[in-house]
Amino acid sequence: MKKNQTVEVTIEDIGINGEGIGKYDGYPLFIKDAIVGDRIEALITKASKNYGYARLSRIITPSPDRVEARCRQARTCGGCQLQELSYDRQLFFKEKKVRDSLRRIGGFDEAVLDRVFEPIMGMDDPWNYRNKAQVPVGYDRSGKLVAGFFAGRTHQIIPMEGCVINMPGSDAVINKVLNYMQANRITAYDETSGKGTVRHILLRYGFFSGQWMVCLVINDPSGEKLRNSDQLIESLREIPGMTSISFSPNTRNTNVIMGETYKTIWGEPCIHDTIGDLEYEISPLSFYQVNPKQTKVLYETALAYAGLTGNETVWDLYCGIGTISLFLARNAARVYGVEVVPQAIEDAKRNAALNRIENTEFICGRAEEVLPARFAETGERADVIVVDPPRKGCDEVLLETITRMAPDRVVYVSCDSATLARDLKYLAANGYRLEKVRPCDQFSHTAHVEVVVMLSRTEGESGTSL
Ligand code: SAH
Repeated sequence: MKKNQTVEVTIEDIGINGEGIGKYDGYPLFIKDAIVGDRIEALITKASKNYGYARLSRIITPSPDRVEARCRQARTCGGCQLQELSYDRQLFFKEKKVRDSLRRIGGFDEAVLDRVFEPIMGMDDPWNYRNKAQVPVGYDRSGKLVAGFFAGRTHQIIPMEGCVINMPGSDAVINKVLNYMQANRITAYDETSGKGTVRHILLRYGFFSGQWMVCLVINDPSGEKLRNSDQLIESLREIPGMTSISFSPNTRNTNVIMGETYKTIWGEPCIHDTIGDLEYEISPLSFYQVNPKQTKVLYETALAYAGLTGNETVWDLYCGIGTISLFLARNAARVYGVEVVPQAIEDAKRNAALNRIENTEFICGRAEEVLPARFAETGERADVIVVDPPRKGCDEVLLETITRMAPDRVVYVSCDSATLARDLKYLAANGYRLEKVRPCDQFSHTAHVEVVVMLSRTEGESGTSL
């Protein structure tokens, strides 16, 4: 197989990043934008010994599951990888992705998976669901100031209009920022030279509260380069629900989007939103689930899996702004939340107060350091431990401490099925039985999938193994 060779293949499978997989003479090719069931003509772009990459050049016979993308820029943008696959099949693919990881990486067999798997929770209306957008600012080929997305792996920014997964109304907010920049000759940041001012526009929208937040990420420690910022404020205030306008300095040459601090220049430092009947404050730097409708479903599942009666001691590790902790607190004796971002811990404390919840304690630090230290100090066990780590999953030191604290149940909320499977394998080998697995579609049209899992302890305190 050679680069630049054109081949005809039938797409038989879907890769973990949503790409189509087809075999030509037994040689697997990964092909972006190709859908299972398509017969296509593809141009090989990279050929290594055992597999290659190809570009979809022509669809010969479309798959019965192929649908027209709602967004004209779906292929160039790359933010959505599955828009051309029917939503039902997307959900099927996500279930399969989780199952495959648990089987291949976790070592769970089909009989176990059949016993524990619950159907994926999909969305009724999987469009314009995101409450957060981080939009890069730059120049197009003609030198015009634009905000949008990077085309492929280039530094070229393509303007984004009518994004079908972002919150409704985002274009109007972005345009106001661009108009202000233009009128005041404020430059966009250039990654290569490290020059220029505005890097990203962060937008957040509370679907229930109707509140907007705008935070400009700037290559300027003081914010003085945002000349005449009162013009920006005046213009943004015309947006109904505008609540918080701030900037976050980020002068580092890094692909981390946000800076480490932020300064409010108008309105409130936070916006409010509700999940179920709990209210949350969200600041520019804190993590907050991006799909509010599905977050409610996800948390309700986590709560049901925790099986609380009101007497339990619960740890919520990687707690962010305390969203899950507060959901659990009303049904537990005490909830401890652990999170590494100090601002998020501050938000968590305020959120507890806001909801008049008094049985929580929030601790700032790494879960893999806080929990072992605390356990060494108090020797206190837990009834339920919830973890919701970032993609890299849990540190083994943490998993080991969890097994020593011997909670009756572990609830694992995951955004990466591969690291989830690795961690479940550890827990299953150390006294825990996989009881329930339920994927939840938090990221419709993308290849990402969220999963909630429950494990129960098999070894009683008397040492009996069930
Ligand atoms: N449970 C929360 C947040 C989940 S996202 C929610 O549902 O909103 C994962 C969180 O883990 C982020 O807030 C991140 O800042 C935090 N985090 C990352 N590494 C960590 C670590 N080693 N220890 C504790 N928290 C960590």
